[in-house]
Amino acid sequence: MKLTILGPQGSGKGTQAQVIAKNLKIPHISTGDIFRENIKNDTELGKKVREYTNNGRLVPDEITTEIVKDRLSRDDCKSGFLLDGFPRNLKQARALDKFAELDLAIEVYISDDESVKRISGRRTCPKCSKVYHMVFNPPKSGEFCDDDNESLVVRDDDKPEKIRKRLEIYHDQTEPIIAYYIEQDKHVKINGEQPIEKVTEDIEKALDEFKAEL
Ligand code: AMP
Repeated sequence: MKLTILGPQGSGKGTQAQVIAKNLKIPHISTGDIFRENIKNDTELGKKVREYTNNGRLVPDEITTEIVKDRLSRDDCKSGFLLDGFPRNLKQARALDKFAELDLAIEVYISDDESVKRISGRRTCPKCSKVYHMVFNPPKSGEFCDDDNESLVVRDDDKPEKIRKRLEIYHDQTEPIIAYYIEQDKHVKINGEQPIEKVTEDIEKALDEFKAEL
């Protein structure tokens, strides 16, 4: 299946994407993770995008679209993929249509208040990018990654003033994509204000219903 998962900051879309992609045996492609990895390794791409991501702004469409196009051209994407964080605006959605045909856009919905509340507890492993939440999905011990024991960090763009900026961008630029996919009959809305397992269950049910209709 060719999927994208959308949702405001703190909706848990990254966590859901990891689980869903694993269950479906398709690659999970997070543009945010790709950028963070490149910034960490100080690559040419990392140098170009650092200023944008650190300030909670969107990386220019040309850069982002090219990266996704290149990633989707690899063999492991032939039988499907799950995009996470792309497309982020209508221009990217239209560009994506030119090189891949999505089956479904999964929207994980939460309110702004819930978003801010949740993000303040979010921690990320700087080594493997695994995402935790100190209340909803805590690591097994202290603030260390379960998989590699690295000290977890608060992402730069998860700091309060950056969160507000990112929510504003989500409403202005990303929400219009929802209407775009509704028009194409490729949209499912999932209530993200539920326990993680229940959100996963709802997404899997929606995917099963979609498959049954094929
Ligand atoms: P995320 O982890 O998806 O919240 O992404 C973190 C940051 O990476 C965003 O705040 C943007 O600066 C950048 N980014 C990720 N995906 C995109 C995209 N599709 N278009 C532009 N910028 C992006």
